[in-house]
Amino acid sequence: MMVKSASEDSIAVYCFKEVLSTAIVEHIRRQIPNRVAEDILRIFSHSKWELIKQILIDLEKGKSFKDYLRYIKHPEAFAGSYLKNRTCETFFHKNDGETKYFRIAEEQANIDFQAVSDVMYDLHQYNESLSTSSFTELLRRNLQAKVGITISSSSFSQVEAHLQNRQTFIDLFIDKQMDGFKESVLANFQVTSDDQVEWLHSPYDKMKDILWGCDAKCPFCYEPCINAQKDHLKDGLHKCASHRVQGVSGSHWIATKKLSEAFCNICVSEGSATFKHGDKSINFKDYKTIYPDWDIPPYPETSVYWKRFCCEYQQCLEKQYGMPITIPDHWKRFSKEDAINSITLEAS
Ligand SMILES: [Zn+2]
Ligand SMILES: [Zn+2]
Repeated sequence: MMVKSASEDSIAVYCFKEVLSTAIVEHIRRQIPNRVAEDILRIFSHSKWELIKQILIDLEKGKSFKDYLRYIKHPEAFAGSYLKNRTCETFFHKNDGETKYFRIAEEQANIDFQAVSDVMYDLHQYNESLSTSSFTELLRRNLQAKVGITISSSSFSQVEAHLQNRQTFIDLFIDKQMDGFKESVLANFQVTSDDQVEWLHSPYDKMKDILWGCDAKCPFCYEPCINAQKDHLKDGLHKCASHRVQGVSGSHWIATKKLSEAFCNICVSEGSATFKHGDKSINFKDYKTIYPDWDIPPYPETSVYWKRFCCEYQQCLEKQYGMPITIPDHWKRFSKEDAINSITLEAS
């Protein structure tokens, strides 16, 4: 009889571990996207400008006009894939045979297994006085409250069917829970790429919402709005950290059919140039009559980064838009370091 009871309790432990394993795997899966997103947000100091700056530095290093063009035209989509690539590099490159993705799964598993152990130890004091169903219900509720894992009452039916002696059940679980149990749970996280991973919820939505937010682009130069809140218009207008050379986005002078070498902030400050809107020519100074959601302050600084880009990729730009651009001679003196330094300073 004792042998039967012990083996029945072993079966109850086996059934419990089956149920627990599924619940812990799901709990870890639920935690991982948040931890991944938090890590990536930290890399970019929770700052949209920091993300833009790193994109610009990487584009400069990459020397690909095609990549530049993707960013120039659709910065929001480019930023989305940039964050995805950064996540892939950070979490799915193996270091000492393991990925960071696996390591955070392991960290979370350690937390969960410790909490499960605590719950089981705490149960010692209840095991004499409760009925079997009250005992498993208490176990279920404690796992929910103290570990954060949700298991339905019905999932415990097999545990209840085999459970004979609660003390033996607890002791068997505590003695045997480390016998490959954690390893079998962690085997679910041995993925090696972001293509193979099954996110329970996407970490990218959170990253993009917090780091990018507003998708608006300057109507003249396409520089992204620097505000990282999606619906910031109720609190403030769209605004750029620094405008690009307008010709970079294909903006051109109608009279000369040349790409514009002008900057939006200078155009609105001087008030001599106009832009076409439908049939009308609008003075840049009056841009708010057409784009009331935009604020383009007339400050005098202009982007060294984009001036140097025009010098380096002049032929590509002219070929892309089928128009020449007249580059002022003094732009040609800027070095790569000047370009990088200029965006680093703008960030501060
Ligand atoms: Zn602009
Ligand atoms: Zn905006």
